[in-house]
Amino acid sequence: MPEAAEAAGLGRHLANLIASEGAIGIDRYMAEALGNPRWGYYMTRDPFGLQGDFITAPEVSQMFGELIGLWCAELWRQMGAPAEFHLVEIGPGRGTLMADALRAGRLVPPFLTAARLHLVETSPVLRTLQGTALADHQVSWHQHFNEVPPGPAIVVANELFDALPIRQFERTIEGWRERLVSLGPDGGLRFVRAAQPSPAQALIPEAVQGAPLGSVAEISPASINLARDLAERLLAPGGEGGGGALIVDYGSDESRPRDTLQAVIGHHSHPVLEAPGSADLCAHVDFAQLARTARECGAQVHGPTGQGAFLERLGIGERAARLKAGAGAAQAQDIEAALARLTDPGQMGSHFRVLALTQPGAPEPAGFADPDGGGGGGGGDGGGAA
Ligand code: SAH
Repeated sequence: MPEAAEAAGLGRHLANLIASEGAIGIDRYMAEALGNPRWGYYMTRDPFGLQGDFITAPEVSQMFGELIGLWCAELWRQMGAPAEFHLVEIGPGRGTLMADALRAGRLVPPFLTAARLHLVETSPVLRTLQGTALADHQVSWHQHFNEVPPGPAIVVANELFDALPIRQFERTIEGWRERLVSLGPDGGLRFVRAAQPSPAQALIPEAVQGAPLGSVAEISPASINLARDLAERLLAPGGEGGGGALIVDYGSDESRPRDTLQAVIGHHSHPVLEAPGSADLCAHVDFAQLARTARECGAQVHGPTGQGAFLERLGIGERAARLKAGAGAAQAQDIEAALARLTDPGQMGSHFRVLALTQPGAPEPAGFADPDGGGGGGGGDGGGAA
């Protein structure tokens, strides 16, 4: 079984690493388990769909990517319809969202003509799938967002931040101590607690610093860095910046103590340190932290709002009705089920949150203003990989 081989290979690699360097942070463990070039989870497989480990919104229905495509076209118009801009997706999976977005973008031909397509993807397997899904388009791939050339950009990231490495800290009587991954007497991986404080705990949000004994805090330096890169990029002067970013993921609107790291295989939760490289590893996204970071850099933040409310404001109800009108009875039922899955508060509608970043003073992007002034579909959090 390839899974067993991967877990054995990566397990040995991690054991050697810990034996030579000492206990490692959970961020290092996640980075190896997901991104090790030989055995990393995303590097070796297509994890999506019913046969895979989890299913994401663009894989649930074409409506998701189509509406995001129209959101991008509207933002482009709000930007003053530049003759050229970078349309960027970070972590594009199978390329489904972008393919659906570009198809919907045909409704606004000058938007498509102006778009230069960039995909930021670390997995060679997924790059191949993205190339197939986007065979009719000219695509540039990058390892990191910072490699996208300067210029106005519209950036989309769906279910990317939950896969970026996190570090965990436990509140002990002596203060915060990092939770690390070490080797047990049997040579297996196990969690231990660092004996000394770490400078990284300065990143624990202020609202969490005073949490009671026994609390767990999560920070994601990689997410903070990417939020900063996005904001700095939007604010870059002299025609090198401008545009906006749209971040969709599951998580919470407030920074609070939590222990949300989980491993998922075949749509089920799995022990985090078992079988590294064959399970998806993810953690809830701290949207308050992303928003704070972007604001500190001077960006304007919109949301977070619930995915259900966001899609409804973009007209998913009308889009579903149009698709149903041209469909048979069984297909119409599938469309109805997909609509419910994407928007119902009990499904993906509420604990998936949507955040946008723009330049200060830019108009509010579509999907955030609530005509009746209500919230955004619940407080977020709960749930996990859909
Ligand atoms: N957006 C897609 C896929 C989500 S899964 C969807 O909604 O279906 C996470 C994606 O992010 C995968 O494509 C994975 O390979 C990619 N990824 C993970 N870590 C990354 C990183 N550090 N930089 C860029 N892409 C990354």
